[in-house]
Amino acid sequence: MASYYDNNTVIYHNGAFVKAADAKMDLYSQSLHYGYSVFEGIRSYRTADGETKIFKVKEHYDRLQASAAALNLPYTWNTQELTDITYEVLNRNGLGDAYIRPVIYAPANMSFNPNAESLIVIEAWEMAPFLGEKLLRVTVSSFQRPNPKGFKIHAKAAGHYVNSILASQEAKGKGYDEALLLDMNDKIAEAPGANVFFEKAGVLYTPALGNILPGITRATVLELCDELNIRVVEGQFTQQDLYGADAAFFCGTAAEVVGFQSLDDVGFAMPWEETQSRLVQIAYKNLVVENKTELVNEITGIE
Ligand code: PMP
Repeated sequence: MASYYDNNTVIYHNGAFVKAADAKMDLYSQSLHYGYSVFEGIRSYRTADGETKIFKVKEHYDRLQASAAALNLPYTWNTQELTDITYEVLNRNGLGDAYIRPVIYAPANMSFNPNAESLIVIEAWEMAPFLGEKLLRVTVSSFQRPNPKGFKIHAKAAGHYVNSILASQEAKGKGYDEALLLDMNDKIAEAPGANVFFEKAGVLYTPALGNILPGITRATVLELCDELNIRVVEGQFTQQDLYGADAAFFCGTAAEVVGFQSLDDVGFAMPWEETQSRLVQIAYKNLVVENKTELVNEITGIE
């Protein structure tokens, strides 16, 4: 089992910085029983000038607040205070390149009724500076993403991730690296924990918002494409549109920008290194470490 903390690890839990090993949660929590909680996945990076910076921290805590509102979970914090607390968690644990996981959860409640208050935990653990250099073998999942008429699909809600776990485990059980899920109309939607883009003739395509989590990395990629003069089309696409495309990639806070090697064993028309998608990958990596020398300068020698 992965180890996310040791006896010295400090987390923020309901108003106090405490040892992760000593923290307790109520086993009668409505969140544990019904998957009724919201969370974020955030990255911090040691930047080019040696500082520790949390990437798009405002966007993440604003989305956490919106997710809580979507699920009727009381939310009594604000983005600035949670930002300060998160830097303190990183600082107390001596973390630079880290993954940060805030969760808003419910107190003891076996009914389906709303609660008067929510609880919060902010955890962080070390993460390698850059993941995703290898290309992924992806398969279209037999699981669809949750129907937005049954879920608040734009919210980052714990319960939605049973769908992600099923799809990811199915793909890995078949020998692939990751799944690509379709929506309830059989249009491509997203990965279990990332958004998707594909490339044809220098143009990038990505599913429009509506049936997917509005990824902060997705929004960042759209901004980078604007700066790099790469055209992006948001719309509804089928898996047939992806087979034989020039390239495709997943993007997410944890995944960063990671290219596909194949989709259902069908390769892509261009070598990854020669695609616009690769330029986006490099630009993203430079952005998160605030390497300002050049937008698409190769990152070499930065730890
Ligand atoms: N879709 C899903 C289902 C996810 O879990 C994530 C990761 N949060 C994403 C997309 C990408 O979102 P972001 O770029 O904000 O991490």
